[in-house]
Amino acid sequence: MTIVLQLPRVKRNRTERPQKCKYCEGETFQRWGGDKKDIKDTKIKTVRVYRYKCTECGRTFRHYPEGITNAQQSERMKKLAVVCWSLGLSYRSVALILSAFGVNVSHMSGWRDVQEEGKRIRRRLKWKPARVVGVDGAWENGTGLMIAVDLGDGEPLSIAEIDEKDKEEVEAWLKGLVQRHQIGLVVSDDLATYKEITDELEIGHQVCQFHVRRWVGRKLRELEEDLPEEWQDKLEDVRRLIDELPKDGGKDMHEIWKELPGRTTQRDEERTPLETFREMVLRLSRDWERYIEFYSDPGIPWTNNQTEQIIGKMKNRAKRVRGYKSSEGRLIGSLIAAQSWK
Ligand SMILES: [Zn+2]
Repeated sequence: MTIVLQLPRVKRNRTERPQKCKYCEGETFQRWGGDKKDIKDTKIKTVRVYRYKCTECGRTFRHYPEGITNAQQSERMKKLAVVCWSLGLSYRSVALILSAFGVNVSHMSGWRDVQEEGKRIRRRLKWKPARVVGVDGAWENGTGLMIAVDLGDGEPLSIAEIDEKDKEEVEAWLKGLVQRHQIGLVVSDDLATYKEITDELEIGHQVCQFHVRRWVGRKLRELEEDLPEEWQDKLEDVRRLIDELPKDGGKDMHEIWKELPGRTTQRDEERTPLETFREMVLRLSRDWERYIEFYSDPGIPWTNNQTEQIIGKMKNRAKRVRGYKSSEGRLIGSLIAAQSWK
């Protein structure tokens, strides 16, 4: 497999004339002299920049070649610095790597490049439509975070400092996202909060089946030992339904629930294994529609795997920076760490 990292192109000069005046949108210009400009780049050391005068408003402006701005570094250099940083290098190490290409920059310039790129990513994401979105909570150096990932292209949409257990904050955050990005369905683990919120916002909900299999599997193994012999085949039926996930499995679950005897213990008494089993079956039958949304649309994954991978990348980056100094820094750092750079 070949991995290709695409960096912006940089040209020595610009042959075509400007299309529009950046001040007044005028379309006719006079060339108003040119200058050589020294730049910091891996391949090109000097570029030619022409000035133009707008015949409408009389103002002059520089017309930069591709990959060049009024900054000293080329766009290619800035991107390289950002990518090195996202892979885990410190700003000092980034400056060291760039020096191997004959480019001398201070470690602060790497920091500025990262901030600039982070802001650019945020502007681009602000109104980006995202039909199917993975949502999950994480802890990073003692701070609770909520992450939303566009599962269409695997790009993170939002990272917020919110504790997943704080239902009101999670709901307000998710509501804003649903409106801005026109989200139609959320993929999450099966915390009750997500069920309530997706119902309230009237959007689709797919519960990650890795999570369901994990907790149901664990519970079934416990019950296997304690459940009376005569109910063991029902336990097998539940296991098979979860394993095969048939579309109408919710009905089958409900049938099993009806066959199980009702509660005999008091409220404050510990439930019998059979009662625990019955409660679990009821929960599975109620949530079944959230397990099988993925059958209706190939754009819906049946797990939240992609979101968890992004969280893994963010955590890796956070470990190496030894904690972000501000929320803004964390947001930018995490967004950049989660990029795939293809
Ligand atoms: Zn003009």
